[in-house]
Amino acid sequence: MRDVLVIGGGPTGSYLASRLAGMGFDVLVLERRARLGDKVCCAGIIGQECFDSFVLDDSLLLRRANSARVFLPSGRPISLWREENQACIVDRAALDVVMAERARAAGAEYALSSQVKDIQLGEDRVTAEIRNGGHQQNLEARAAVIAAGFDSRLAERAGLGKPGDFVIGAQAEVEIGDIPEVEVYLGRETAPGFFAWLVPTSPSKGLVGLLSRRKPGIYLERLLSSLRAQGKIGMAGAEPGYRGISLRPPDRTYARRLLVVGDAAGQVKPTTGGGIYFGLLGAEIAVRKLKRALEQDDLSARSLAGYEKEWKKKLGKELGVGYWARRLYERLSDRQLDRVFEIAVDNGIVEALLKDKDLSFDWHGKAILRVARQKALVGVLGMMKVPLQFGQ
Ligand SMILES: Cc1cc2nc3c(=O)[nH]c(=O)nc-3n(C[C@H](O)[C@H](O)[C@H](O)COP(=O)(O)OP(=O)(O)OC[C@H]3O[C@@H](n4cnc5c(N)ncnc54)[C@H](O)[C@@H]3O)c2cc1C
Repeated sequence: MRDVLVIGGGPTGSYLASRLAGMGFDVLVLERRARLGDKVCCAGIIGQECFDSFVLDDSLLLRRANSARVFLPSGRPISLWREENQACIVDRAALDVVMAERARAAGAEYALSSQVKDIQLGEDRVTAEIRNGGHQQNLEARAAVIAAGFDSRLAERAGLGKPGDFVIGAQAEVEIGDIPEVEVYLGRETAPGFFAWLVPTSPSKGLVGLLSRRKPGIYLERLLSSLRAQGKIGMAGAEPGYRGISLRPPDRTYARRLLVVGDAAGQVKPTTGGGIYFGLLGAEIAVRKLKRALEQDDLSARSLAGYEKEWKKKLGKELGVGYWARRLYERLSDRQLDRVFEIAVDNGIVEALLKDKDLSFDWHGKAILRVARQKALVGVLGMMKVPLQFGQ
């Protein structure tokens, strides 16, 4: 019997597969798409820390960014700039392919066009029910990992609950004019409660996208028209893509013989919806726990519970504070949002933040708490209680 079935060949699934296969375990990745990297819907922006820890391949790098222009609801632009590089824009489709190549090189096998419809968690094995074209097949292994991203009901079917909250992302590739840096657009007319972006990926191409709880397609169409009218973009390429993003984890991310990682586990920054780095960090913790459990042949829920404990220890506070900030931000009207930024710029809060070593592309918690305590902002924000731990 195989050791591990990994369900999903996105970045977290393939990373986990490469690590486990590299340790000598027999790993099969089941991926419903016929081609890896097909129809990904992601801007591919990651922090330097993520690039240096997991990506490590300059051929995937489209460009680096150390600045962004944020357009407030009033239209006022604010320039954010730091001396050192902040983010790497990577070719997300190629990332999926490269991660899978690494896993294959380490010994993992891939079954493409293989959608897992259900999993049964037995006493001594996991059975996955696969649909491959018109064929149905059952596969068995000692353990399984759900790395199936947002739109998989597998974790829910395994009794682990649904993602606690989610948002829909929409994005289109476009031709661009002279756009030297990432642009971010705020405001209820553009992306209510969230934000929209224009990310230049090459001198002539870029990605326009947004997050929204409702009608993402209508908001995206509106944004594309507006950017076209401003002469910032030309024609859109292929049809826009849409995908859900978990903003809170499901009730549980482990069960007997089963772990859940990545977007499926809600390992996503609730502030921005970015999930590549936290998903990979979650996958690394899953690898360590699973290795021990496989070696000791103890794949009980009790033995695997340490995975959730550890990933929440690493990411829980970030997720808790980030989600709190997200809900607070969503409550702000456009006027309040303009005001918050005006005060933050005029009082030097933005400048101090940009110099603050505690604020990085990936870790926002400490900086959020610091800003939330600024007397100048408390009145406008109307504070909600800050949770100190995830889940509070
Ligand atoms: C518009 C948009 C922009 C984004 N931009 C960024 C960004 O700039 N930076 C960032 O960090 N994050 C971004 N994200 C989030 C990021 O894309 C995800 O966090 C990341 O892809 C999660 O990786 P994953 O491996 O957990 O899941 P996924 O990448 O979703 O991979 C899951 C894989 O599982 C497969 N699968 C699903 N169900 C099954 C099944 N039943 N059987 C077999 N296979 C299955 C899928 O086909 C897929 O290949 C963005 C998301 C959206 C929607």
